[in-house]
Amino acid sequence: MSKKFVLALDQGTTSSRSILFNQEGKIVAVAQREFKQHYPQPGWVEHDPMGIWESQLSTAKEVLAKAKASPADIAAIGITNQRETTVVWDRKTGAPVYNAIVWQCRRTTDTCEKIQAQGLAAEFKRRTGLVVDAYFSGTKVKWILEHGNGLRDRAARGELCFGTIDSWLLYKLTGVHATDYSNASRTMIFNIHDRQWDSTLLKHLDIPQEILPQAMPSSYVYGTTSVLGGDIPVASLIGDQQSALFGQAAFNLNECKNTYGTGCFLLMNTGERPVESKNGLLTTIAWGLDDKVYYALEGSVFVGGAVIQWLRDGLKLIASASESESVAQEVSDTAGVYIVPAFVGLGAPYWDMRARGLITGLTRGASRAHIVRAALESIAFQSADVVRTMETDTSGRIPQLRVDGGAAANNLLLQTQADLLGSPVVRGQTLETTALGAAFLAGLATGFWPNQDAIRSIWQVDRIFEPSWTPEKRQTALAGWEDAIRRTKSM
Ligand code: ADP
Repeated sequence: MSKKFVLALDQGTTSSRSILFNQEGKIVAVAQREFKQHYPQPGWVEHDPMGIWESQLSTAKEVLAKAKASPADIAAIGITNQRETTVVWDRKTGAPVYNAIVWQCRRTTDTCEKIQAQGLAAEFKRRTGLVVDAYFSGTKVKWILEHGNGLRDRAARGELCFGTIDSWLLYKLTGVHATDYSNASRTMIFNIHDRQWDSTLLKHLDIPQEILPQAMPSSYVYGTTSVLGGDIPVASLIGDQQSALFGQAAFNLNECKNTYGTGCFLLMNTGERPVESKNGLLTTIAWGLDDKVYYALEGSVFVGGAVIQWLRDGLKLIASASESESVAQEVSDTAGVYIVPAFVGLGAPYWDMRARGLITGLTRGASRAHIVRAALESIAFQSADVVRTMETDTSGRIPQLRVDGGAAANNLLLQTQADLLGSPVVRGQTLETTALGAAFLAGLATGFWPNQDAIRSIWQVDRIFEPSWTPEKRQTALAGWEDAIRRTKSM
């Protein structure tokens, strides 16, 4: 077979990356370019859609040049992307009518509060699996249509296209206006049960049907692009967190991944069953594959690796993030010190937006090492809280936690995580799990990999962290954490 590689386009919030993977799922070459962030007002965040496209295209060309590969060597392109970020463009010219409104942007908070005041939040939750929040795309589309001359009329006449970033890149690559179920499930206007745009919710937000992309499976040949010089099928679209779950080969029921970045993102595969959380987690579509749709529960930790940045930049206790590991290892435990980094409130399962951080259990003997260790442990405690919430919501038990992200380089953190969960924590060899997921899905759609078993067999473990604590020790640690949480709460 002449095809040697799959090309993953990984369009993130601050940079666009292109990665070539070979048939063993190994990275052959990477190219990355940052692009400009726009902050037109406090709390507002925008990107220039053309800037996104150009940075993505240039990295794709660069990665081919680096690997001395030609389009004939590429079996397929897979796209994974920052989720929820919203673009509206002219169907004919392809020109954006407004900047992309980024997931972080809070400009539609008022609209969301109105929806809540009208008592519609439960209906949105039931149909979309999401809580009503400015984070998701629906109110961002509404805002764009209301803030340009005649845009809503033009949308109703079918002259405009809405899309999340996957959809925007697909359009630029192929001229096709589509998205995948995983991205659609982050818009707050997509019914995750019947997999259709939801006409009732569209009415609530006054968004015309004509503007919407066609929603399709994540692993699917959407079209062909010739922008790199020869024809290549575009064969997957998938949101970044779901892609990481797939890139971790977490294909089975109750398999779970945690990405340890600035915040932490946990997703648990709930199979073909959407599980409605009773504890504020999101229900989302993981992926569409082989005529089936798989769901996930999603929970996040607001301050994950960011607590290590705070030790470094705020307290100046460590010189680098990686130093946190050796400093924490100077002591064998935290001597009863707990840090709850509720810098922006507490998320799942506590949901207290007014809570603020604290350090408890200080004695005269508390040292820098105890504080650093407690900060590291706080990442593991918060993640364990989300895992336990998922187990409660699904009445299931996670067999193991697969991990990635910058802070997953920290062995002490991962050992603590395993100890707190009482389950193994598994770090894969490829840390670029997000790009790998999109590559796997594109490779499956085009026969580059025959099936999921083939993928599972090339997925390789770097290290497994086995739990080492007795149940009593775990209980004591968790009781201390719960006590610290209690003191953190605003009421
Ligand atoms: P993001 O994608 O959110 O920017 P990354 O996956 O690049 O994040 O991870 C960066 C985060 O991980 C930072 O918050 C940093 O403090 C933390 N981090 C990086 N290396 C380590 C380490 N060795 N130990 C603990 N935390 C780390």
